[in-house]
Amino acid sequence: MEVIILGGGLAGLSAAAALGSAGHRIRVLEARPYLGGRAASYDSGGETIDNCQHILMRCCVNLLDFYSRLGVDKEIAFYRDFVIIEPGGRRSVLTRGFLPAPFHFSASLLGLKFLTFSEKVALIRGMLAIRREYGCRDDLDKISMQRWLEEKRQPKRAIERFWSQVLISALSEEADRVAAAHGFQVFWLGFMARADSYEMGVPAVPLGKLYGADSWRALGDVDIRLRMPVEKVNFENGKVQSVMAGGEELHADHFVCALPFDRLPALGIPIDVSAFEYSPITGIHLWFDRKVIDVQQAAMLDRTIQWVFNKSDGRYVQVVVSASRTLIEMPRADVIALAVRELAEFFPAVREANLQKAHVVKEVRAVFSARPGLEPYRPPTRTAIPNLFLAGDWTRSGWPATMESAVRSGYLAAEAITGQKFLLSDVG
Ligand SMILES: Cc1cc2nc3c(=O)[nH]c(=O)nc-3n(C[C@H](O)[C@H](O)[C@H](O)COP(=O)(O)OP(=O)(O)OC[C@H]3O[C@@H](n4cnc5c(N)ncnc54)[C@H](O)[C@@H]3O)c2cc1C
Repeated sequence: MEVIILGGGLAGLSAAAALGSAGHRIRVLEARPYLGGRAASYDSGGETIDNCQHILMRCCVNLLDFYSRLGVDKEIAFYRDFVIIEPGGRRSVLTRGFLPAPFHFSASLLGLKFLTFSEKVALIRGMLAIRREYGCRDDLDKISMQRWLEEKRQPKRAIERFWSQVLISALSEEADRVAAAHGFQVFWLGFMARADSYEMGVPAVPLGKLYGADSWRALGDVDIRLRMPVEKVNFENGKVQSVMAGGEELHADHFVCALPFDRLPALGIPIDVSAFEYSPITGIHLWFDRKVIDVQQAAMLDRTIQWVFNKSDGRYVQVVVSASRTLIEMPRADVIALAVRELAEFFPAVREANLQKAHVVKEVRAVFSARPGLEPYRPPTRTAIPNLFLAGDWTRSGWPATMESAVRSGYLAAEAITGQKFLLSDVG
């Protein structure tokens, strides 16, 4: 069987890996000169940098399966300690203890310095409510996580300093704009279902290296064609007949559209995407003349900047701001100044250091906003056109916009085409 995949992001690539290893002839058409889409690396002044730091958790079982198909799973470093820092530098660590799931965080949660005792008790009460209500309530897609947290009488500081901090990192969206169903999934699958599911995976190499040419050799007949933007989809007799890309007309038995949702209307693909909107993420790359941070990564409370990652010797650091609407209109120089000023509140060494170079990546169309009521509008893999299948983090993958969602959607498309099973079940 011949399959053409439109888009070389994680959705398209995971479909290609599954279909290729199942013995089908695959062509991936990617518009850019590199693979990975929104999880990619590129050259910036002679240095390979990721568009933005990407992290995963051990509960991303399909993403990890995809990395192991590519033979790069060993390139993901896992960390057990979540370091959380307050302005002024006081640190707390969230890590698992000796109790079995879902109680493995009990000691660690009680030890958090940035919450009062009553806030911690409320937090544990909230976690237990998630355990009780997960899979049992049918209104969780319709209400926001903020509303659910207020219903459970969570203190404002616990919402701001714990619940929102986790949600915004995982879903790139504010608690009042995100469906409680997705919030539940994050806390249940990520923090409660299994004792190790929260462990944070950070690629130890630039993202682009994970999808390098070597990886594809063992995966069958997969032809990856870069700089091949699909310009037109030709429909005939209710089927896709061919696609036009790079001046060529290309035919296949099946087509997988693994493009971002906003590309579909221009190609005449008849899927209603009007319910979707984007949430932005900003990555701020900072190169200092000396070591300024002494951790591998850390979450930072109460400021605009949310996470910092140590990219090289504590001198090259990357700061991430999810749901970064306040930064989108801000001039780049001001974004850099703000990031450096705030970083110094957490890491005093920044004050003594000189900034040698900085780079800001504002991804305005980073991820779809997983707001209440959206889920029924996420289209499934199969379309009304029998040989056209959809993939992409925004399709009905069962997960919010993440790399795991993209890979799940790719595997689901491969399953729909072949009837074979590729998708692994969630840990919980
Ligand atoms: C800044 C940022 C930080 C993020 N951080 C995380 C994180 O830490 N953890 C996490 O799990 N997720 C994170 N995400 C989300 C994650 O990157 C995405 O969910 C995932 O990569 C989406 O993959 P996809 O294949 O569905 O879409 P995309 O990656 O968008 O892939 C679509 C591909 O289609 C190509 N294309 C577009 N038009 C055409 C055309 N006409 N013809 C051919 N090709 C075309 C594009 O170039 C692209 O390569 C982040 C995203 C961003 C932007």
